[in-house]
Amino acid sequence: MLRIVVDLNRCESYAQCVFAAPTVFWMKDEESLEYDYAPDDSLRVQVERAAAACPVQAISICCLDEQLEQQGGNHSEQQ
Ligand code: SF4
Repeated sequence: MLRIVVDLNRCESYAQCVFAAPTVFWMKDEESLEYDYAPDDSLRVQVERAAAACPVQAISICCLDEQLEQQGGNHSEQQ
């Protein structure tokens, strides 16, 4: 499952993310960004494009599945 965090202190409302992934990011009142913090996995490519397009690198993507795997996968480092 995807999780998105936008650092709104860093965001300058350039709206590049809105163009890249309009179903995930949108502008409210033409200057404040709103977004779906848990979009469907099928939107991953769009979200990655949006994160890459952000001029101030305000968008972080995390994946709960990967986090759970990492937490549960600590034993795999032992041989
Ligand atoms: S592209 Fe970056 S700076 Fe622009 S609105 Fe999106 S998060 Fe904010």
